[in-house]
Amino acid sequence: MDKKGKVIILVAPSGGGKSTLARRLFKDFDNIKFSVSATTRPQRDYEVDEKHYYFISDEDFDQKVAAGEFLEWEEFYGGKKYGTLRSEVDKKLNSGYFVLLDIEVKGAVNIKNIYGDECLSLFIKPPSIEVLKQRLVDRGTENDETLNLRLARAEKELDYADRFDQVIINDDLDAAYEEVKKAVVKFMNQN
Ligand code: ADP
Ligand code: 5GP
Repeated sequence: MDKKGKVIILVAPSGGGKSTLARRLFKDFDNIKFSVSATTRPQRDYEVDEKHYYFISDEDFDQKVAAGEFLEWEEFYGGKKYGTLRSEVDKKLNSGYFVLLDIEVKGAVNIKNIYGDECLSLFIKPPSIEVLKQRLVDRGTENDETLNLRLARAEKELDYADRFDQVIINDDLDAAYEEVKKAVVKFMNQN
């Protein structure tokens, strides 16, 4: 591939359905690659280091910040840090791939400001906070404290929905995915 790729961001509150929708995109499009972020939060049982995240120490994270290795980074959920690595995005874009970022609202705004029209941003909105809470509980990844932190943050993040290219309500998963796919295909066909 000799054409430089473009950026696709799925943005949503935690539990909004980004990872689920992203998995379907990877199955359908072999020209989309995931941007693996770095984080200081603990690894979950089902997660694989360097596939889901680069799980790194606080010290390593701070060193990367100081060295300018992040395109953007944020700290939330009681001091846990998450960041998009410049090298990770660049190597995939330069190989001609569409690079998919699964990040939260502020980081997504920063990435949009960097890439402009070379970036498609889709805000994935849960049908309601109650449904979001139930999905996070059913996912079984949170304790009471992290669940409440995520829900409190979600309420604020929903206010940012209109800043992105398109808002997609994730009520019925198949219907939401069809909307995501349609937006992605249109973006891929734009020059
Ligand atoms: P995120 O990556 O945004 O944190 P996930 O993709 O992990 O969110 O989704 C959170 C939970 O909700 C997962 O357990 C997922 O299976 C479930 N989920 C996602 N979308 C739907 C949907 N439309 N209907 C029912 N459950 C869903
Ligand atoms: P989780 O801990 O559930 O994997 O992710 C929590 C939140 O962090 C999610 O909304 C996810 O999209 C976001 N996130 C993951 N990686 C990054 C990143 O590199 N930068 C920013 N700003 N947010 C991220």
